[in-house]
Amino acid sequence: MKRIFDINTIIRENIKRIKPYSSARDEFTGAAKIFIDANENPLGSVGGSHNNRYPDPYQRQLKEAISNIKGIAPEHIFIGNGSDEAIDLLFKTFCRPGIDTAIQISPSYGMYKVSADVNEVIIHEVSLDSNYQPVTETLVNHGFENVKMLFLCSPNNPTGNLLDRKTLYQILDTFDGMVIIDEAYIDFSQEKSWIAELENYPNLVVLQTLSKAWGLANLRVGMLFASVELIQILNKIKLPYNISGVAQELALQALSKTEEKAQMVHEILTQRSFLLHELQSVPCVLLIYPTDANFILVKTTDADKIYTYLTDNQIVVRNRNKIHLCEGSLRITIGTKEENIALLEALRMFK
Ligand SMILES: *Cc1c(COP(=O)(O)O)cnc(C)c1O
Repeated sequence: MKRIFDINTIIRENIKRIKPYSSARDEFTGAAKIFIDANENPLGSVGGSHNNRYPDPYQRQLKEAISNIKGIAPEHIFIGNGSDEAIDLLFKTFCRPGIDTAIQISPSYGMYKVSADVNEVIIHEVSLDSNYQPVTETLVNHGFENVKMLFLCSPNNPTGNLLDRKTLYQILDTFDGMVIIDEAYIDFSQEKSWIAELENYPNLVVLQTLSKAWGLANLRVGMLFASVELIQILNKIKLPYNISGVAQELALQALSKTEEKAQMVHEILTQRSFLLHELQSVPCVLLIYPTDANFILVKTTDADKIYTYLTDNQIVVRNRNKIHLCEGSLRITIGTKEENIALLEALRMFK
């Protein structure tokens, strides 16, 4: 059943009022012979790289390709300079600095808090339970003031697990504000994307990225899926040319190779199974958490010592020892077969 929720009631008034900057490429989009409207260099690029023209500010071709893959119309898609930009724009859209607040699950991705801090917005951290699952009651009846957004992440970083689907439905049905579900790692799981529920939940925002499964972290292409209303607002307040033409072109090329992507994901999942199995017999590993992502969280006998020992051996993992509910834990990204074998060899030698 469709939830009744009017996002206009929580969008900041100043954001609603903004008239967007209209770029040269906004005002004329057709074909012509001579383009002398944008103060570009007509001679070409220094170095000969053909980058003298401004890119499409709305990334139309890229959205078309994403639309076909994800099964949702381009009007529901916003592309950011990484998911990081999308997260920042959500704070700008919904949270008045010093007044409004947000909630995030804890532990989770560190960028929500960085973005909140930059925007002078308090973000309340609500603990997951001991199985790293959200608790509807504590997230919905939170008791905090002026809460506009809730950040969830599934599969969650750094814990690796999917969040329980029934719980997320309860939250979507009852949370008074926007619910953001970050699916950066969805391609490594068997779970269906929450994109399919956008038509039922006007308060839902789904984040995905080309940085992980698609192997394009260097391009900085993050995707946000939401209601047409919210997409229009984000388009209005983003920087005019937020995705470079080079990034758009290379992303488009990659998106036409879905088979290659599937094969890469398959190989990473094969390596994940291998690591999960082998880690069981490593003496300094106490606990291996279940994972639906391209990394594994492991509880160890001494995270700080093992972390330093590994870096001394030229292997860098993520030390999560100081993170809530992750005491003693390291987060290990699935590497190549050779990298995983090297890691296991080093771990087995740790005394
Ligand atoms: C890696 C990651 C992202 C991706 O961020 P980009 O800015 O798109 O590279 C988003 N969310 C989570 C939880 C991540 O771990």
